[in-house]
Amino acid sequence: MVPEGERGWCDSHCHLDYLVRGGEEASEVVASAREAGVDCMVTIGTRCDRLGELEALSHNFSGVYMSVGQHPCHVAEEGVVSASDLEVLCGGVKVVAVGETGLDYFRTREHKAIQEESFENHMVVARRTGLPLVIHSRSSGDDMLSKVKEGMEEGEMLAIWHCFDGSVAEAERALDMGMMLSFSGILTYKKREDLREIASWVAADRLLLETDSPYLSPEPYRGKTNRPSHVVHTGGVLAGCRGISEASLREILWENTHRIFWRMRGEGMG
Ligand SMILES: [Zn+2]
Ligand SMILES: [Zn+2]
Repeated sequence: MVPEGERGWCDSHCHLDYLVRGGEEASEVVASAREAGVDCMVTIGTRCDRLGELEALSHNFSGVYMSVGQHPCHVAEEGVVSASDLEVLCGGVKVVAVGETGLDYFRTREHKAIQEESFENHMVVARRTGLPLVIHSRSSGDDMLSKVKEGMEEGEMLAIWHCFDGSVAEAERALDMGMMLSFSGILTYKKREDLREIASWVAADRLLLETDSPYLSPEPYRGKTNRPSHVVHTGGVLAGCRGISEASLREILWENTHRIFWRMRGEGMG
Protein backbone atom coordinates (compact mmCIF):
# COMPACT_ATOMS: atom_id res chain seq x y z
CA MET A 1 0.00 0.00 0.00
CA VAL A 2 1.03 3.58 -0.66
CA PRO A 3 0.29 6.17 2.06
CA GLU A 4 -2.63 8.52 1.39
CA GLY A 5 -1.64 11.58 -0.63
CA GLU A 6 1.48 10.01 -2.19
CA ARG A 7 1.94 8.98 -5.81
CA GLY A 8 1.40 5.33 -6.63
CA TRP A 9 3.66 3.05 -8.68
CA CYS A 10 3.43 2.87 -12.47
CA ASP A 11 3.96 -0.32 -14.47
CA SER A 12 5.07 1.00 -17.86
CA HIS A 13 5.02 -2.41 -19.57
CA CYS A 14 2.87 -5.44 -18.82
CA HIS A 15 0.86 -8.00 -20.77
CA LEU A 16 -2.51 -8.28 -19.06
CA ASP A 17 -3.90 -10.21 -22.04
CA TYR A 18 -1.28 -12.94 -21.52
CA LEU A 19 -2.23 -13.17 -17.84
CA VAL A 20 -5.88 -13.57 -18.82
CA ARG A 21 -4.95 -16.20 -21.41
CA GLY A 22 -3.00 -17.96 -18.68
CA GLY A 23 -6.20 -18.27 -16.66
CA GLU A 24 -5.99 -15.20 -14.41
CA GLU A 25 -9.03 -13.02 -13.79
CA ALA A 26 -8.38 -9.51 -15.14
CA SER A 27 -10.38 -7.80 -12.39
CA GLU A 28 -8.43 -9.66 -9.73
CA VAL A 29 -5.05 -8.83 -11.33
CA VAL A 30 -5.95 -5.14 -11.53
CA ALA A 31 -7.42 -5.10 -8.00
CA SER A 32 -4.31 -6.72 -6.52
CA ALA A 33 -2.13 -4.18 -8.35
CA ARG A 34 -4.18 -1.32 -6.90
CA GLU A 35 -3.97 -2.92 -3.47
CA ALA A 36 -0.18 -2.91 -3.81
CA GLY A 37 -0.27 0.79 -4.71
CA VAL A 38 0.10 0.50 -8.50
CA ASP A 39 -2.17 3.11 -10.02
CA CYS A 40 -1.30 2.98 -13.66
CA MET A 41 -0.38 0.19 -16.05
CA VAL A 42 0.30 0.04 -19.78
CA THR A 43 -0.72 -3.27 -21.32
CA ILE A 44 1.49 -3.65 -24.38
CA GLY A 45 0.44 -4.76 -27.85
CA THR A 46 2.36 -7.61 -29.45
CA ARG A 47 0.05 -8.49 -32.34
CA CYS A 48 -2.36 -6.27 -34.24
CA ASP A 49 -4.87 -9.09 -34.75
CA ARG A 50 -5.33 -9.36 -30.98
CA LEU A 51 -5.79 -5.70 -30.15
CA GLY A 52 -9.44 -6.27 -29.25
CA GLU A 53 -8.36 -7.94 -26.02
CA LEU A 54 -6.30 -4.90 -25.03
CA GLU A 55 -9.09 -2.51 -25.99
CA ALA A 56 -11.50 -4.40 -23.73
CA LEU A 57 -9.03 -4.39 -20.82
CA SER A 58 -8.19 -0.70 -21.10
CA HIS A 59 -11.87 0.15 -21.56
CA ASN A 60 -12.94 -1.84 -18.50
CA PHE A 61 -10.40 -0.52 -16.00
CA SER A 62 -9.39 3.01 -15.14
CA GLY A 63 -5.63 3.43 -14.89
CA VAL A 64 -5.09 0.74 -17.54
CA TYR A 65 -3.73 2.02 -20.85
CA MET A 66 -2.57 0.21 -23.96
CA SER A 67 -0.14 0.35 -26.86
CA VAL A 68 -0.38 -0.77 -30.47
CA GLY A 69 2.40 -2.85 -31.96
CA GLN A 70 3.87 -6.00 -33.37
CA HIS A 71 6.48 -7.79 -31.30
CA PRO A 72 9.53 -8.60 -33.48
CA CYS A 73 9.01 -12.31 -32.76
CA HIS A 74 5.44 -12.19 -34.10
CA VAL A 75 6.01 -10.26 -37.32
CA ALA A 76 6.81 -13.32 -39.41
CA GLU A 77 3.62 -15.04 -38.34
CA GLU A 78 1.27 -12.07 -38.52
CA GLY A 79 2.83 -10.41 -41.55
CA VAL A 80 4.15 -6.85 -41.57
CA VAL A 81 1.44 -4.30 -40.74
CA SER A 82 1.77 -1.07 -42.73
CA ALA A 83 2.48 2.28 -41.11
CA SER A 84 -0.88 3.63 -42.22
CA ASP A 85 -2.76 0.69 -40.67
CA LEU A 86 -0.78 1.06 -37.44
CA GLU A 87 -1.55 4.75 -37.38
CA VAL A 88 -5.29 4.13 -37.65
CA LEU A 89 -5.12 1.60 -34.79
CA CYS A 90 -3.26 4.18 -32.67
CA GLY A 91 -6.34 6.38 -32.75
CA GLY A 92 -7.94 4.24 -30.00
CA VAL A 93 -9.07 6.09 -26.87
CA LYS A 94 -6.56 4.68 -24.40
CA VAL A 95 -3.63 4.11 -26.76
CA VAL A 96 -0.59 5.82 -25.24
CA ALA A 97 2.32 4.29 -27.19
CA VAL A 98 3.49 2.54 -30.36
CA GLY A 99 5.07 -0.90 -29.91
CA GLU A 100 6.41 -3.12 -28.70
CA THR A 101 8.62 -3.27 -31.72
CA GLY A 102 12.33 -3.71 -32.29
CA LEU A 103 14.82 -6.44 -33.04
CA ASP A 104 15.13 -9.84 -31.39
CA TYR A 105 18.12 -11.93 -32.50
CA PHE A 106 18.02 -14.21 -29.49
CA ARG A 107 16.40 -17.20 -31.15
CA THR A 108 17.23 -16.55 -34.76
CA ARG A 109 18.33 -13.87 -37.18
CA GLU A 110 16.29 -15.53 -39.85
CA HIS A 111 13.58 -12.89 -39.85
CA LYS A 112 15.93 -9.93 -39.56
CA ALA A 113 14.69 -8.22 -42.73
CA ILE A 114 11.02 -8.32 -41.83
CA GLN A 115 11.71 -7.36 -38.20
CA GLU A 116 13.49 -4.29 -39.59
CA GLU A 117 10.65 -3.46 -41.93
CA SER A 118 8.12 -3.67 -39.11
CA PHE A 119 10.39 -1.64 -36.81
CA GLU A 120 10.66 1.10 -39.45
CA ASN A 121 6.88 1.22 -39.85
CA HIS A 122 6.45 1.70 -36.10
CA MET A 123 9.01 4.51 -36.18
CA VAL A 124 7.09 6.26 -38.95
CA VAL A 125 3.97 6.15 -36.77
CA ALA A 126 5.84 7.33 -33.66
CA ARG A 127 7.07 10.37 -35.61
CA ARG A 128 3.68 11.10 -37.17
CA THR A 129 1.65 10.76 -33.97
CA GLY A 130 4.23 11.92 -31.42
CA LEU A 131 3.48 8.78 -29.39
CA PRO A 132 6.48 7.15 -27.69
CA LEU A 133 8.01 4.09 -29.29
CA VAL A 134 8.27 1.05 -26.98
CA ILE A 135 11.38 -0.84 -28.04
CA HIS A 136 12.18 -4.50 -27.48
CA SER A 137 15.79 -5.46 -28.03
CA ARG A 138 17.31 -8.84 -27.40
CA SER A 139 20.87 -9.68 -28.47
CA SER A 140 20.50 -6.75 -30.86
CA GLY A 141 21.54 -3.62 -28.93
CA ASP A 142 23.95 -2.29 -31.52
CA ASP A 143 21.63 -2.71 -34.53
CA MET A 144 18.64 -1.44 -32.58
CA LEU A 145 20.44 1.74 -31.50
CA SER A 146 21.65 2.40 -35.05
CA LYS A 147 18.10 2.00 -36.37
CA VAL A 148 16.67 4.34 -33.73
CA LYS A 149 19.36 6.89 -34.51
CA GLU A 150 18.40 6.77 -38.19
CA GLY A 151 14.76 7.04 -37.19
CA MET A 152 15.48 10.14 -35.11
CA GLU A 153 17.33 11.76 -37.98
CA GLU A 154 14.10 11.61 -39.99
CA GLY A 155 12.27 13.62 -37.35
CA GLU A 156 11.52 13.99 -33.68
CA MET A 157 10.71 10.70 -31.97
CA LEU A 158 10.21 9.66 -28.35
CA ALA A 159 11.70 6.27 -27.50
CA ILE A 160 11.71 3.86 -24.56
CA TRP A 161 14.13 0.92 -24.27
CA HIS A 162 11.90 -1.51 -22.46
CA CYS A 163 13.32 -4.15 -20.14
CA PHE A 164 16.74 -2.55 -20.36
CA ASP A 165 19.41 -5.20 -19.89
CA GLY A 166 22.33 -3.71 -21.82
CA SER A 167 25.90 -2.61 -21.12
CA VAL A 168 27.20 0.69 -19.79
CA ALA A 169 28.15 1.72 -23.34
CA GLU A 170 24.65 0.91 -24.64
CA ALA A 171 23.01 2.81 -21.79
CA GLU A 172 25.21 5.83 -22.51
CA ARG A 173 24.42 5.71 -26.24
CA ALA A 174 20.69 5.40 -25.58
CA LEU A 175 20.70 8.27 -23.08
CA ASP A 176 22.71 10.48 -25.45
CA MET A 177 19.98 9.91 -28.00
CA GLY A 178 17.35 11.01 -25.50
CA MET A 179 15.87 7.58 -24.85
CA MET A 180 14.16 6.47 -21.65
CA LEU A 181 15.39 3.28 -19.96
CA SER A 182 12.80 1.02 -18.37
CA PHE A 183 13.99 -1.40 -15.69
CA SER A 184 12.31 -4.76 -15.07
CA GLY A 185 12.56 -7.53 -12.47
CA ILE A 186 16.03 -8.41 -13.82
CA LEU A 187 17.22 -5.54 -11.63
CA THR A 188 16.48 -7.64 -8.53
CA TYR A 189 18.45 -10.71 -9.62
CA LYS A 190 21.36 -11.47 -7.37
CA LYS A 191 24.00 -11.66 -10.09
CA ARG A 192 22.97 -8.43 -11.84
CA GLU A 193 25.11 -6.03 -9.87
CA ASP A 194 26.12 -4.57 -13.27
CA LEU A 195 22.54 -3.55 -14.01
CA ARG A 196 22.03 -2.07 -10.53
CA GLU A 197 25.20 -0.05 -11.06
CA ILE A 198 23.77 1.43 -14.29
CA ALA A 199 20.39 2.04 -12.62
CA SER A 200 22.17 4.02 -9.89
CA TRP A 201 23.41 6.75 -12.26
CA VAL A 202 20.83 7.04 -15.06
CA ALA A 203 19.46 10.60 -15.03
CA ALA A 204 16.28 10.66 -12.92
CA ASP A 205 14.13 12.01 -15.75
CA ARG A 206 15.01 9.01 -17.98
CA LEU A 207 13.86 6.27 -15.61
CA LEU A 208 10.85 4.02 -16.01
CA LEU A 209 9.83 0.87 -14.18
CA GLU A 210 7.99 -2.16 -15.52
CA THR A 211 7.10 -5.78 -14.83
CA ASP A 212 6.83 -7.22 -18.39
CA SER A 213 4.41 -9.55 -16.60
CA PRO A 214 3.74 -12.46 -16.89
CA TYR A 215 7.50 -12.76 -17.54
CA LEU A 216 10.57 -11.85 -15.46
CA SER A 217 9.14 -11.91 -11.95
CA PRO A 218 11.35 -9.96 -9.56
CA GLU A 219 12.77 -11.46 -6.39
CA PRO A 220 11.23 -12.87 -4.19
CA TYR A 221 8.90 -14.25 -6.86
CA ARG A 222 11.52 -15.20 -9.43
CA GLY A 223 10.36 -18.16 -11.52
CA LYS A 224 6.69 -17.57 -10.71
CA THR A 225 4.08 -15.81 -12.83
CA ASN A 226 4.72 -12.09 -12.75
CA ARG A 227 1.92 -9.59 -12.18
CA PRO A 228 1.78 -5.77 -12.15
CA SER A 229 1.58 -5.79 -8.32
CA HIS A 230 5.17 -7.12 -8.26
CA VAL A 231 6.50 -3.84 -9.66
CA VAL A 232 6.81 -2.66 -6.06
CA HIS A 233 9.63 -5.16 -5.46
CA THR A 234 11.66 -3.90 -8.41
CA GLY A 235 10.85 -0.38 -7.25
CA GLY A 236 12.25 -1.13 -3.81
CA VAL A 237 15.53 -2.30 -5.33
CA LEU A 238 15.69 0.71 -7.67
CA ALA A 239 15.14 3.12 -4.76
CA GLY A 240 17.87 1.26 -2.86
CA CYS A 241 20.44 1.54 -5.64
CA ARG A 242 19.75 5.25 -6.02
CA GLY A 243 19.79 5.87 -2.28
CA ILE A 244 16.40 7.58 -2.25
CA SER A 245 13.10 6.79 -0.53
CA GLU A 246 10.43 4.78 -2.29
CA ALA A 247 8.12 7.79 -2.01
CA SER A 248 10.60 10.02 -3.89
CA LEU A 249 11.14 7.32 -6.50
CA ARG A 250 7.38 6.92 -7.01
CA GLU A 251 7.10 10.68 -7.50
CA ILE A 252 9.87 10.63 -10.15
CA LEU A 253 8.45 7.60 -11.96
CA TRP A 254 4.92 8.98 -11.95
CA GLU A 255 6.10 12.25 -13.50
CA ASN A 256 8.22 10.42 -16.11
CA THR A 257 5.45 7.97 -16.98
CA HIS A 258 2.87 10.71 -17.44
CA ARG A 259 5.30 12.88 -19.41
CA ILE A 260 6.40 10.21 -21.90
CA PHE A 261 2.95 8.60 -22.21
CA TRP A 262 1.52 12.10 -22.59
CA ARG A 263 -1.89 10.87 -23.68
CA MET A 264 -2.50 9.65 -20.11
CA ARG A 265 -2.81 13.27 -19.05
CA GLY A 266 -5.84 13.81 -21.24
CA GLU A 267 -7.86 11.24 -19.34
CA GLY A 268 -9.14 10.73 -15.78
CA MET A 269 -6.34 9.14 -13.78
CA GLY A 270 -8.62 6.80 -11.84
ZN1 LIG B 1 9.69 -7.14 -24.96
ZN1 LIG C 1 6.64 -7.09 -23.46
